[in-house]
Amino acid sequence: MPLPKSEPVIIIGGGAFGLSTALELSTRGYTDITVFEQDEEIPSRWSAANDLNKIMRAEYEDGFYTELAIEAMQAWQTPLFAPHFHRVGFLNCVTGAAPQKAVDTMERFRAAAERHPVMKPFVSGVDGRDELRQLCWQFDGQLPGWKGYINKYDGYVHSANALRGVYRAARENGVRFLLGEKVGAVREIVYEDTCQGRKSVGVRTQGGDFHAASLVIVAVGAAATKIVPEIGSHVQAKAWSVAHVRLTEDETSSLRGIPVTYARDLGFFFEPEPKTNLLKLCPMGGGYVNTDPSTGLSQPPESLTQSRFVPHEDELKMRELLHQTLPHLADRPLVRKSLCWFADTSNSDFVVDYVPQTSSSVMLLSGDSGHGFKMFPIVGRWVIDLLNSAKEQQPISRWRWRNFSSANGNASQDDVSWRIGDVKEIRDLQINQVESKL
Ligand SMILES: Cc1cc2nc3c(=O)[nH]c(=O)nc-3n(C[C@H](O)[C@H](O)[C@H](O)COP(=O)(O)OP(=O)(O)OC[C@H]3O[C@@H](n4cnc5c(N)ncnc54)[C@H](O)[C@@H]3O)c2cc1C
Repeated sequence: MPLPKSEPVIIIGGGAFGLSTALELSTRGYTDITVFEQDEEIPSRWSAANDLNKIMRAEYEDGFYTELAIEAMQAWQTPLFAPHFHRVGFLNCVTGAAPQKAVDTMERFRAAAERHPVMKPFVSGVDGRDELRQLCWQFDGQLPGWKGYINKYDGYVHSANALRGVYRAARENGVRFLLGEKVGAVREIVYEDTCQGRKSVGVRTQGGDFHAASLVIVAVGAAATKIVPEIGSHVQAKAWSVAHVRLTEDETSSLRGIPVTYARDLGFFFEPEPKTNLLKLCPMGGGYVNTDPSTGLSQPPESLTQSRFVPHEDELKMRELLHQTLPHLADRPLVRKSLCWFADTSNSDFVVDYVPQTSSSVMLLSGDSGHGFKMFPIVGRWVIDLLNSAKEQQPISRWRWRNFSSANGNASQDDVSWRIGDVKEIRDLQINQVESKL
């Protein structure tokens, strides 16, 4: 039987998935919703989405996600979301030195975009420096061997501002928010045994308070295994690097309107943000994990300061990317460097399902796999669909609950074609970082 709309619902996590869910539930008439967020404010410093921008591209190698991204794109063009969507195009390329895996992936993305009737009119191929410069005159680097395509259907979204907008809208709809380490950080879900089996009765905060709920929705991003350890290594905390170059106002103006520029073997960057004059860069790579040797599970570090750096190898990739495109910026200091943690699954599929043996009283919303923000406007609908599903079962089989014992580990990184490079342990890295400073 569907949950009556007046029953108390708790959402743990005020990041992208949690806020989207809070807004959708409150819009659909659920009247008793409380969001718990461990940070003092939203956007939370812990949220992977608290960022200047995220790529909003609709083409996926996988048709299922392409259709979802098209649906999300339409939602980004509605009044609540439109102020944060910038349709500057997505320039998806490889350099002349790219490994075949990167070239093949780029070609599959391109084929997906060209195949889709909605996107097809927006897509065109680019090959070599001259063609690239016709598209983007600002790129005065050598662009050695660059080729790929531009998709003008795509662009980027200002993710921190979009979080702010949805937070405001959810509050206006009557959603309660409990913020901060003491009242907002959830320590655990509280269960009781009933004659039908285990059932959640609410949550306990780090401060020790108990809050009752009929349904607990866990949307804690990279921290999923801390609250739902049963998911095991199917969801692992993983990080990618982010850094910025600070520009002058004139430099920001002259780069206005450049497409999201992606070299699949090096990384990507965005149009600079006019308020801060920051140009954001991300290197391409396998990412970093933080595995606890005793459990075999990767979880985000306990403090934010432990993630305020980028590995040297990533810095080199970002500089090389600038050197090939905007060489006058290649030697500038990189600022606001961080490792940004997300919830990765071995097949890159999301997890949207009830936690087994909880009598459908706990739902896990996780496994964003580093590509979930584009779906921000529609995530909440997936929760509604599950709440209304027959037999309380996730109808989309790829989003159903799975668990792997940590001994089995995750499937190999190579299972996901768009990931290039090895996954590294953050602890090995920090040792190297310290050594390299000596
Ligand atoms: C470097 C990087 C680049 C990315 N680029 C893109 C992109 O270009 N396009 C795209 O679509 N996606 C991108 N993503 C992915 C996107 O950021 C995520 O898919 C999205 O943020 C996932 O939302 P979430 O709500 O699951 O997690 P988050 O947004 O991380 O939110 C989780 C929230 O839970 C809170 N929380 C955790 N534990 C607790 C607790 N115990 N109690 C209370 N609160 C808690 C945290 O404070 C946080 O606010 C990128 C991710 C990274 C890391």
